Amino acid sequence: MKDFDAIVIGAGNGGLTAAATLQRGGLKTLLLERHNIPGGCATSFVRGPYEFEVALHQLSGMGTPDKPFILRKLFADLGIMDKVDFVEEPELYRMIIPGIIDITLPASVVGVARTLKQYFPKESRAIDDFLELCKFVTLESIMVLPRARKAVDKEMLRHQGKNFAKYGLKPAQQVFDEFFDDEMIKAVLGAYWGYLGLPLRELSFADMGALFYAYAEFKPYHVIGGSQALSNALLDSFLEAGGEMRFNCAVDKILTESSAVRAVRTEQGDEITCHTIVSNASSLHTYNELLDVSNRVELVREDFKSRRLGVSAFVIYLGLDCTPEQLGVTAATNFIVLTPDDEAVFRRAETLDEPLGCGFTCYNVDDPSFAPEGKSIASLICIQYGDVWKNVAPDDYVNTKYAFAEKLLDLAETVFPNIRSYIEEVEIATPLTMMRYLNTPGGAIYGFDQNRLDSSLFRERYKEIDGLYLAGAWSGMGGFQPTYQAGVSVANSIIRTQIYRDKANV
Ligand SMILES: Cc1cc2nc3c(=O)[nH]c(=O)nc-3n(C[C@H](O)[C@H](O)[C@H](O)COP(=O)(O)OP(=O)(O)OC[C@H]3O[C@@H](n4cnc5c(N)ncnc54)[C@H](O)[C@@H]3O)c2cc1C
Repeated sequence: MKDFDAIVIGAGNGGLTAAATLQRGGLKTLLLERHNIPGGCATSFVRGPYEFEVALHQLSGMGTPDKPFILRKLFADLGIMDKVDFVEEPELYRMIIPGIIDITLPASVVGVARTLKQYFPKESRAIDDFLELCKFVTLESIMVLPRARKAVDKEMLRHQGKNFAKYGLKPAQQVFDEFFDDEMIKAVLGAYWGYLGLPLRELSFADMGALFYAYAEFKPYHVIGGSQALSNALLDSFLEAGGEMRFNCAVDKILTESSAVRAVRTEQGDEITCHTIVSNASSLHTYNELLDVSNRVELVREDFKSRRLGVSAFVIYLGLDCTPEQLGVTAATNFIVLTPDDEAVFRRAETLDEPLGCGFTCYNVDDPSFAPEGKSIASLICIQYGDVWKNVAPDDYVNTKYAFAEKLLDLAETVFPNIRSYIEEVEIATPLTMMRYLNTPGGAIYGFDQNRLDSSLFRERYKEIDGLYLAGAWSGMGGFQPTYQAGVSVANSIIRTQIYRDKANV
């Protein structure tokens, strides 16, 4: 008799939704987390009077009550919709290239079209055609692609998913170039590339077009209390269903027997047996450090060699002694770039040189309760690879961190000139901070790079160890919506396998 049906390693988004789904599906489940709070990236921390959101800028995938999308149903199934308050954001983003363009896109497809036509009247026809294409590629990738893949039926994709078949796997940049002449409109429509961690040339149009369309059609959301509130609610859903949780409890080893999982050993030395393990930790940590065998996973290791660690981030968390209005902030999400050339902006993520682009999220714009009255919380972020820190000597770390933070603040001051004078509390996170708190190699926040030729579409699930599953950014796409979905999807397939086995044994 095993101690648990399933053990989930890590209480990030994927771990939480996997654990809650497994337990609610009838499997006795234990959730083990090395940190002392749930959420992984989806957490908060307190400094002075401010509770800072670590990661979430805009939640995708909710949809409205009238037009619900994937996450609204997923959260309802896990019983947390009445425990968390979501705020629909009226704007997608404000994009500013100082001295060149300052444009705010509303969160609706019609509104986006109207605004873009005001700024780029010559591109009117192309704007309509492009948004229509985004819509069909998104719908076909959800409704046709999974069926065609399952049936291994190219003809089905060609006939029922012709937009996806023609454009889906092209580089996003190529499709933008095909539709538009004006470089500026491409920069404005492509501003979300940072959410995927790669420039348009490297992203598939399916990923970029669907991301943009999903935010515009199904709205971006803010969570009252930040993503920590969501993580807490998911943990409650798991515990209320009878799940067991241990914090400050890192898994040290996954123990196997005849190529099947048998148990985990915690850092404290406890051995806990189980039939199934879902790892929300990075795949590299899981297979290279946790697993007790190496001989059966050569193929997995080969697979790792062909991949590139994805980006991490450099973040300045700002507690500001002013309202958004006093600072001149008009939209919650802002992208400030010095050039429309996303490739040039991206290349800086591989250096500690002055950043050419950043995101600036001011949470109080859509949720005045996010900071004490008269104050605001903002997060200033640029993507950065963990590698750029590997040659910084430990003694130089603090100075290097503050020097880069000054450069990022200089960039923010091109749009919000008085920001430094309002800073009351500040905390800075580098890729090394992410590495320490998330236990991801290079502090990667989205898993591996997800370029158009190397997405989860082309990768099979690792099946070398019976009963070992991955759930989170490293087994598919990074980001909030994909990782919530990944946990549920893995858990449901485990439950289905279990039901099948039970029936076979009757
Ligand atoms: C600063 C920042 C900004 C971001 N902005 C956005 C955004 O705006 N939109 C968006 O969609 N995404 C954003 N992301 C990315 C998104 O947050 C992540 O891709 C996603 O949350 C990852 O979820 P995950 O399920 O893979 O697990 P993670 O969040 O990586 O959590 C993994 C968990 O496993 C635990 N763990 C690891 N090893 C062990 C072990 N041996 N034993 C026990 N526990 C272990 C870790 O402590 C952690 O809690 C951002 C991330 C960061 C850090």
